[in-house]
Amino acid sequence: MHRRSVRQGGGVRIDLHTHSSVSDGTDTPAALLSAALAAGLDVVALTDHDTTAGWGPAEAARPPGLTVVPGMELSCRWFPADEPPISVHLLAYLFDPLHPAFVAERARLREERLTRGERIVTALAAAGHPVVWEQIVERSAGGVVGRPHIARALLEAGVVASVDEAFGTLLHHRSPYYAAKADTDVLDGITLVRAAGGVPVFAHGRARSRGRVVGDAAIAAMVEAGLVGLEVDHPDHTPEERAHLRGLADAHGLLTTGSSDYHGTNKLTPIGACTTDPAQYEALLAAGTGTAVLAD
Ligand code: AMP
Ligand code: FE
Ligand code: FE
Ligand code: ZN
Repeated sequence: MHRRSVRQGGGVRIDLHTHSSVSDGTDTPAALLSAALAAGLDVVALTDHDTTAGWGPAEAARPPGLTVVPGMELSCRWFPADEPPISVHLLAYLFDPLHPAFVAERARLREERLTRGERIVTALAAAGHPVVWEQIVERSAGGVVGRPHIARALLEAGVVASVDEAFGTLLHHRSPYYAAKADTDVLDGITLVRAAGGVPVFAHGRARSRGRVVGDAAIAAMVEAGLVGLEVDHPDHTPEERAHLRGLADAHGLLTTGSSDYHGTNKLTPIGACTTDPAQYEALLAAGTGTAVLAD
């Protein structure tokens, strides 16, 4: 009943960016799909950071009527000529999960997350903060450790009052405890995703609230490398940032997406907070050849 009334009211609802407990969300893949259904979504993409480990559990738990798009968010960097590298996130959909070079790069990134996470936690512990690396690794289901795991440990130890406060203080990229990870060059990332039959989409590309963002020339270079889409409607984008990205998408012939970037209780955003236009979703499906959507 609920789903039917949603359809009548607003057509097909599509959220193309979510994180489960396989990376730094708090819902298991099964719980995430339940949340998607309860929110009236018809299509949801599972896009955990640097891993496809949630795809199997999602396939096993998929409720009838809900379409699941297998995806991922690849940790990347853009290297400007005259300033330090800028962190960029690349969404990848419908790629072959067994493509060897892409498998190897994901494994390298997860290893990088472990060494870098340990560096941050060791520095925090040396300064007297009650965090223990082994306990933080234990709470990451798939070995995909990120700052949200450290933030939750700080929250539970009473050091901060919220995950958000941890990101604004001890885990901020300008904090003395911060360490960067050696992410994939985004042009190489785009090439890999395309080689694996996938669809690369630049995630939250203009969200200045998250830190430095790349300029339009970088996006042009990404298009040259094979970028297919821009994530436009994202909770971290202002109306002006969305308008700018929509203009770039028009100019370069890119598809546009909208999504929540849901992380369970690690962020305040509910699943389905932003959605993708069905015609754009159809274009994305047509561009992906590495694997199929999970559907009835
Ligand atoms: P990392 O990849 O380990 O550097 O951590 C970045 C991750 O933390 C991203 O995936 C974001 O989704 C998440 N994140 C960034 N800022 C916040 C915040 N204020 N609250 C919760 N999660 C955040
Ligand atoms: Fe995240
Ligand atoms: Fe991201
Ligand atoms: Zn994300």
